[in-house]
Amino acid sequence: MSDLPYLNGYPVDLVERVRHLMTQGRLGPWLQRRYPDRHTIQTDKELYQYVKELKQRYLKNTAALAKVYFYNRQNPIKGTLGTNTFVSRPRGGKLKSKNEIRIAALFRDAPEAFLRMIVIHELAHLKEKEHNKSFYQLCCHMAPHYHQWEFDMRVWLTWRERSSIHHTDGQ
Ligand SMILES: [Zn+2]
Repeated sequence: MSDLPYLNGYPVDLVERVRHLMTQGRLGPWLQRRYPDRHTIQTDKELYQYVKELKQRYLKNTAALAKVYFYNRQNPIKGTLGTNTFVSRPRGGKLKSKNEIRIAALFRDAPEAFLRMIVIHELAHLKEKEHNKSFYQLCCHMAPHYHQWEFDMRVWLTWRERSSIHHTDGQ
């Protein structure tokens, strides 16, 4: 595994540019300049509302969302940034199905574009389970800069983890 695991699979020259900015201490300011907008979504209720609005705008005809919430992952590399679960539970003899979306809690502190990107990714899974062509078409329909946002989000995760070495937020 490379020393910049979030950027695995991206072109080498692109990854080298990120590394260069990082060693010069310019990655943080670069991200700040590109993504100055924060968001105020902190609670599960606010997240639910945010996801619901996007869903109503783009995916009106998909099954209702039963639950949307933040969950904690200390090391997202080993876990996932978001998940979409379609749970079937037998209830009263009938099969009850419901959609759940979980978003990694670290997106509470992310620029709005990155929260939106990860939410859009999970919403697209309501229609397409696989990461295929129509899945990404749907993502780009909801966010024309989807691929750029994903790359920059990974840069942000890289920067965030590197700079957290100097922070003391417990664990
Ligand atoms: Zn996915």
